[in-house]
Amino acid sequence: MSECIFCKIVKGEIPATILYEDDKVVAFKDIQPAAPNHLLVIPKKHIQSMAHVTEEDRQEILPQIFKVIQDLSVELGIKEEGFRIVNNCGKQGGQTVDHLHFHLLGGRQMLWPPG
Ligand code: C5P
Repeated sequence: MSECIFCKIVKGEIPATILYEDDKVVAFKDIQPAAPNHLLVIPKKHIQSMAHVTEEDRQEILPQIFKVIQDLSVELGIKEEGFRIVNNCGKQGGQTVDHLHFHLLGGRQMLWPPG
């Protein structure tokens, strides 16, 4: 998937402000932040969306993503006040980049329902 912009970030081919990286997961700052803290947490492996997660991904990758999100909430100092995790899946879900990603948003009061 050489065209995928997030795969290019994983490979270091385009710049991103990376806050965390391990063998499975990368977390970087969203270039258009929607909150004082806005990170994207993604698998290094190209997975198109939550609709494309396999049983192996459920066991190997999703738990690591959620561990990283929780750890980052502590590092960013947003654990106590609260934060939001967003996954946009597919066309009606509002997904614009077809590489699975979880938004971690914090640092302001969130509203509900989302648009
Ligand atoms: O969930 P959705 O697919 O709409 O989110 C994609 C996100 O990826 C956007 O918030 C956008 O700002 C971000 N992005 C980024 N760096 C890029 C391209 C997109 O942070 N190079």
